[in-house]
Amino acid sequence: MNRHSLNIDYIQSPKDHLDRTDALLVVKATEAAQNAYAPYSQFKVGAAVLLDNGHILTGSNQENASFPAGICAERSVIAYTHANYPTSKISAVAITASPCGICRQVLLESEKRAGSPIRVLLINENEVHIFKSVKDLIPFGFDSF
Ligand SMILES: [Zn+2]
Repeated sequence: MNRHSLNIDYIQSPKDHLDRTDALLVVKATEAAQNAYAPYSQFKVGAAVLLDNGHILTGSNQENASFPAGICAERSVIAYTHANYPTSKISAVAITASPCGICRQVLLESEKRAGSPIRVLLINENEVHIFKSVKDLIPFGFDSF
């Protein structure tokens, strides 16, 4: 038997200390949350993706009376990104909440497709937690062995 431990290295930054690109991603994700359709949970989430070509795309959660048919902000923007920019790589994503397990798995797959780490910015009211890779959020994701 071997004992192991995981350490997750991340940056906790006040919003007003971010560099220009991260600050813009935070603004875009926050603005995108206003487009959420969340009549059931009242929990509006926005996500913004930065592509390697410099484009920023956004998404928001879109709920449905048939709950499983709803989709989280992260998956709405990830699907749009891959459908419309199939050759672009995602280099960063900013989210106005902490992603659910399904979204972490989807982000992990996007990171695998990109072939390089996707920086993840998790936004709360006054600060941002910045992770260097999706793997930091789902270290034992499906297909990671
Ligand atoms: Zn989710």
